[in-house]
Amino acid sequence: MQNSSITSRLAAIRAQLPPQVELVAVSKFHPAEALREAYRAGQRHFGESRPQEMVAKRALLPDDIAWHMIGHLQTNKVRDVVPFVAVIESLDSARLADAIQREAARIGRQVDVLLEIRVADEESKTGWDYAGLCAWLDGGAAAQLPNLRFRGVMGMATNTDDEAVIRRDFLLLRQYKEELAPRFGADFDTLSMGMSGDYPIAVACGATSVRIGTTIFGEREY
Ligand SMILES: *Cc1c(COP(=O)(O)O)cnc(C)c1O
Repeated sequence: MQNSSITSRLAAIRAQLPPQVELVAVSKFHPAEALREAYRAGQRHFGESRPQEMVAKRALLPDDIAWHMIGHLQTNKVRDVVPFVAVIESLDSARLADAIQREAARIGRQVDVLLEIRVADEESKTGWDYAGLCAWLDGGAAAQLPNLRFRGVMGMATNTDDEAVIRRDFLLLRQYKEELAPRFGADFDTLSMGMSGDYPIAVACGATSVRIGTTIFGEREY
């Protein structure tokens, strides 16, 4: 794809989004040059799914980029991203939370996190089971994690053409966010949902942040 089209696609998406909705450009599997083009067009929030790739791209790109970890994060990779990551959107287990806490405390940093919650029909989708998440929080987990700043929730809708199903998933995620909010504080303000195929529905359902890859950068080559 021509780099110039990254600029125009970004502009087209931004023009569609309400100004208060944050756009995370999902750049996984795309080369640093593609991110640079988006950066030149004013984009600052980038989403990556693999720690090594995020670390490598960070070294090649400007310092004021906000890096969002959006893929499953293994505990043995936590150390690589905690020093600089803007937000870990894919907090999906107690074990991962403990690992982030240990590393963040060690280097004296507070790390923003989103609780990734499973709402889709497919078994393949990652994230907390909501009941399990509530049980963990009821046990007082958050108080043991002073170096994590809980900012909200993240999730993915079922991969389907059925808009009613997608809407149901997004509204459920929003409901979870509203139910969880009193446990945290005013900082718990983020509802990250919506990808290339479904972000207009997500925005209509109250998303505060959307994660868009293919529509900006084209198809990924794995
Ligand atoms: C890859 C990915 C996206 C972006 O998907 P596109 O369909 O390319 O927009 C969004 N969120 C998560 C968690 C992803 O892994």
